[in-house]
Amino acid sequence: MSVSAFSDVVRARVMARSGGFCEVRVAGCWDEASQLHHRRPRGLGGSKNPATGQASNGLMVCLPCHNYLETVERAEARDRGWIVRQGQDPREIPVYRYRRWVLLDDEGGIAPVEVTA
Ligand SMILES: [Zn+2]
Repeated sequence: MSVSAFSDVVRARVMARSGGFCEVRVAGCWDEASQLHHRRPRGLGGSKNPATGQASNGLMVCLPCHNYLETVERAEARDRGWIVRQGQDPREIPVYRYRRWVLLDDEGGIAPVEVTA
């Protein structure tokens, strides 16, 4: 992982929200989270937008899940809100987390949300 765009405060919020556990949980998940995933990638101009460094843009992940998101199944990752497109606000895109749809806020909060596929 490269240098994070998240401040220590934001990192702490995401960590607290996750309780130290992986928030993605796809096949091969290790449960314990060790990395911070950017839902909206920084590499595509994301670092220019302040929302990229906010808690709503971060997910704590384990190594297998991070690899899955970054290299294996980007289409599925978008469908589940684990990856957010440029121009989308991470606060407005539901995330599939622990088998439930939620919205993440920038204070480290979680709100259940109804998603009809
Ligand atoms: Zn995982």
